[in-house]
This record gives sequence, C-alpha cells and structure tokens, in this order.
Amino acid sequence: MSITTEQMRWIDNVVGKPICYLLTCYARLTHLFPKKEKSLKTILFTKYLGIGSIVQATPLIRSVKIKYPEAKLIFLTFHDNEGLLNSLGLIDEVLCIRTDNHLVFLLDVLGSLRHLSDGELVARVKSLAAREHDATAFLVAHLAELDTRDVHLRAGYGSLFAYCRDALALSEHEAYHHIEAARAARRFPVILEMLAAGSVNLTTVRLLVSHLTVANHRDLLESVRGKGKADVEEVVARLSPRPDIPPSLRKLPTPLPAANPLDAQAPVAVVPAASVPAATVAVSTVRVVTVAVAGYPGQAVAPLSPARYRLQLTIGVETLEKLRLARDLLRHAIPSGDEAAVLDRALTALLSDLARKKFAAADTPRPSRGTAPGSRHVPAEVKRAVFLRDLGRCAFVGTGGRRCAERGFLEFHHVHPHAMAGEATVSNVQLRCRRHNACDARADFGRNRVRATQGPSVPGSLRP
Ligand SMILES: [Zn+2]
Repeated sequence: MSITTEQMRWIDNVVGKPICYLLTCYARLTHLFPKKEKSLKTILFTKYLGIGSIVQATPLIRSVKIKYPEAKLIFLTFHDNEGLLNSLGLIDEVLCIRTDNHLVFLLDVLGSLRHLSDGELVARVKSLAAREHDATAFLVAHLAELDTRDVHLRAGYGSLFAYCRDALALSEHEAYHHIEAARAARRFPVILEMLAAGSVNLTTVRLLVSHLTVANHRDLLESVRGKGKADVEEVVARLSPRPDIPPSLRKLPTPLPAANPLDAQAPVAVVPAASVPAATVAVSTVRVVTVAVAGYPGQAVAPLSPARYRLQLTIGVETLEKLRLARDLLRHAIPSGDEAAVLDRALTALLSDLARKKFAAADTPRPSRGTAPGSRHVPAEVKRAVFLRDLGRCAFVGTGGRRCAERGFLEFHHVHPHAMAGEATVSNVQLRCRRHNACDARADFGRNRVRATQGPSVPGSLRP
C-alpha cells in the first residue's frame, strides 16, 4: 500500500518542520557567537512535499550556490520531486525518499539519517523522545476519560485492559501500566504534567500509585522526579517497610524428560526446607534448590525496607554443599548459621581475591621495580593507585559531565595513547569499561584503524 498524500503532508509537517526549526535555532545561536567563517563542505536542503515550494526556493538555492561555490548541495525530498530538482541544475545530489510503501519509506528515512551530524542526530532523538512523552501523557489522559464510559464495553471488549491490548495493540505490560496511570491521573492530575515532561514514567507511577494520597502526592512525586526503577523501589521501601524474609531452602521441581520412566514415576514436588533431610539433597536426582522465598518473579534483588534487601536465586547441589560447609566451618564466628552473614563473608573474601588478581591490590604492596620508558606494561603499583583513585569504576566523563557507572569488564586506559608516547603513569592511566575504552580508541585513531587492529576481546580481561 503506497503512502497517501495526507500521510506525506503529515511527514512534511512533523519531520520537515522540526528539522528546519532546530537548524534555524542552531544558526541563530551560532550567529550570536560568531566564529571565524569556515568553508562549508556540504549543505543539505530538505523539503519533502510540494513542488511549488521548491520552485519558490530556487532563488535561495541559487544564491547559496553562488556564496558557497565549493560546497556540495544535497536536497532531501520525496521521490516525485527528483525530476524537478535535477532539471534546476543547481543541486549536486538529490536524496529521494520513495513513497511506494511504508517499508521502503522507512528504509529511505534510515538511509537519510546517515547524513546528519552528531549534534543534529542528538537534537532529533531528544525531540522525538519529548514527543513520545507527550503522546504517553495524552494517551493516559484519554484512557482516563474512556474508563468512565462504556464505549469499549459496547464495542465488545470485556475490560479496558482487553480493549488496550486487542484494539490499541499495546502489549499486556503496556496496557496494565497505562490503565494504572490513567486511574491515578484522575485522582492526581499532576501525574499527566509530569509524564508529559518526562519527569516520571509509567513504571514509577505504577510503583507509587498505592502510596499516593491527597496530602502527600505532590511531595512524593517530586521526590522521584527523574529517578529510575531501583531508586523508586527504595522510596517505596521507606514508605512501607516490609519485614525481613526468613532464610529458607526449597527444592524446585526439576524439568525432566517424560521418556525416562523413573522420572515419570517420581515427579519432584516443591518441598519446604525443613522437610528435606540434608542427605537427600546430595542425591543426584535433586538438582536444584532455591535460597529465600519467591514472591517477586523475574527480580533477583528487591528492597524490603531501608537498607534491607531480598535476594532470590537458584543454585545447584554443589553450591548448596559449599554453603553448608562454609556455614559449619564458621560456627564459631556465626553461631546462628545465618546464610546472609555467611554470604557476606564469602563475597568479602571473593572481592579481596578479585582485587588482588585483577587490580594488583595488596595489603602490603611491594614497591615497583619501575617500567622501562616506552613499555606498554602497566606496573602493579600504578594499577593499585588507579583502581583506588577511580573507585573500581569506569572513569569516563561524558560531554555533559556525566560519569559512567560501569564496574564490569574494566580495562586500564592510557589517556594520552601509548602509541603516541603516552606513559603508564598514575596520571596517564584511568579505568574504562570496555565500551568506553573502544570509544576512546575510535576517537584517538579513527574507526577503521581500530577495527583493523582489534582482536577478539576476552571477557573479564584487563587490557592496558
Ligand atoms: Zn564506561
């Protein structure tokens, strides 16, 4: 099915006009702070629909060509205008968006995005995200009204949820979140304003909804402005603390092939830990146990109350045996046999071991024997100092001042590249996550050269 004229007009308005507006703002801002006149290499014109408008713009294109004779002039437009633009003899390249069908159209739009600068691309992504926030707020507001009427019921849907899922093609997850937000927004309309501004999202509203009251809703919503799910869960845990969950070990049903007659005769049931003798767990047919109780499917860690968390995971028989052995060996230090305390000791020992191996950390560090000038080797003493200074976290700071929070797959990065005579000193080495290390390398050496010299990366390696 080809794109209709109405749809082309819509694209012209919602894609073409915002681009022109952003570029105009950019031009005006740069005009306020004039820099030395640069020679322009490429100039992009964009007008999707309207032969008349393009004809009217001909004098402008001609004057631009005269002013910048060296620049390459590109025109981005719908396929129907290609002949006209070629006949003008002013444009060096016409980028056409075909309107035969939606897939071809989207592929062409994707292709045209390659011509945007980083700044233009980021501006457009932000503008599109803002529009999505607006659209979410509007949809929630309309659902809030729809919920008070019987329109969806009369249309044959059993509930607003079924209507959202089947008639609006929302996923079940999206339908649930939108309806929760719509009902909350009827009581607290400020939610709509915050959704439109992107200050809260539907997940935040869903987590808070049962805690909002007329008295607290403004302060509470303000306290989670711009926060992620984990932070909002912390707020909820403070508002409504839940008691610690007693440790328990439960045997999970083991999925076994039905073809095995022994297994078919002995289905494994969920059994409370107290009724499972320790000896039974060692038998090979019992393969899996779980620590702690279920209650939050799909989520391993969840806050219960301030500074208290529930951890849920599935472990094998061997891990269980290790846990029990550690608990028994620690009886003198942890008489209660508390698994959480045993786990804490185990993790402390693991971290100290990892730090020693990966970051060359030590309680009594040996003095360095020094590094030969020009060597790529990062001495243990430098690694220790860098690890402590960067607090075991990627030290990349983005253009907006945001520091990366990554702690996994860290590598030692030469700020002034080793290939350009950068030394392995504390001041010249920083921790980087693998993606930022690669990003820095591309910035230093160019994408193609990095691709050509990069070998397959090794998980967990700390490459200098
Ligand atoms: Zn990073």
